[in-house]
Amino acid sequence: MLDFQSRGRLAADIALELCAIPSPAGMTRGAADRVAGILEGLGFPTERSAKGSVICRLADGGDPLVLAAHVDTLGAVVRSVKPNGRLRFSKIGGYPDIYLATETCRIHARSGGIFTGTFQPLDASVHVNAKLKESRIEEDGLEILLDEDAPNRDAVLALGIAPGDVVSIDARPVRTEKGYLKSRHLDDKAGCAVLLALARMVSEGGLSPDRRTYLLFTTYEEVGHGGAVIPGDCVEAISVDMGAVGDDLGCTERMVSICAKDSGGPYDWDVTNALAAAARRAGCAYAVDVYPHYGSDVEVSLAAGHDVRHGLVGPGVYASHGYERTHEDALRNTLMLLAEYLRAPDA
Ligand SMILES: [Zn+2]
Repeated sequence: MLDFQSRGRLAADIALELCAIPSPAGMTRGAADRVAGILEGLGFPTERSAKGSVICRLADGGDPLVLAAHVDTLGAVVRSVKPNGRLRFSKIGGYPDIYLATETCRIHARSGGIFTGTFQPLDASVHVNAKLKESRIEEDGLEILLDEDAPNRDAVLALGIAPGDVVSIDARPVRTEKGYLKSRHLDDKAGCAVLLALARMVSEGGLSPDRRTYLLFTTYEEVGHGGAVIPGDCVEAISVDMGAVGDDLGCTERMVSICAKDSGGPYDWDVTNALAAAARRAGCAYAVDVYPHYGSDVEVSLAAGHDVRHGLVGPGVYASHGYERTHEDALRNTLMLLAEYLRAPDA
């Protein structure tokens, strides 16, 4: 039987693999297929909702519960092709432009091709444009420079690139010697990886939940409606999404975060208390925090009319929605908490 240390490392491997699969909201099939493939390989049949969420039933019993992570990420779409062949873009999800400057990307053309490029400031050579040193990035201050010999609009259109094509930001997944994970899109590929590690525990007999437990991998969280559809019999819904790390918050990149309140209001008193109790029993490094600017999939479930108790946990992630960082300890702590929670849901 694997110990939690090994399971945390395995979850980190899965997280980095998933980060590298482009899946901006609206174009998530590749990541959803990989998640479904892992679950099927562990012996859990999966279903898809019409809008692409992956659902599987991990265990049966009473008091049905869903654990929800999201496979969709931030990204952009091509807004227009400039006369000089550079691309204007429109962002998918909420993040500051500064987090895009000099990031590499791929353009997924609806005509079938995939092209590489880079988000650059206008006139981006510092040896030519002295103003770059003082410049602030503002609306339309960045453009996508294609790695193509296409110096004007017609040449770009002739490649098959057009407005509405999807832009994925390259994840640059890295694991350091000390166990840190650096990548874009750890939000929420890290949460997905923890749920897949939990499924593996159940499949190997290391955990036998005594309540009906669904795993849900949603596809539109970053644009606000991922959790609108959940299994109809659920009385409880827990988002497994990135824990906020920053000014005056208790969580670090090595801990599991339990959210008491975010922009959508307070989470359920009993669920939040039970999550914290499970963290203490399991010996997790954890913090209960209030996230100043955050919304989760399960709040969307409530807004969509589901009558569920709701909660939010996840690995601490710094520099969220940028080049993010967490640690494999945070994934391990999240896994330990959830495993303990499923063992004794009423404690
Ligand atoms: Zn997220």
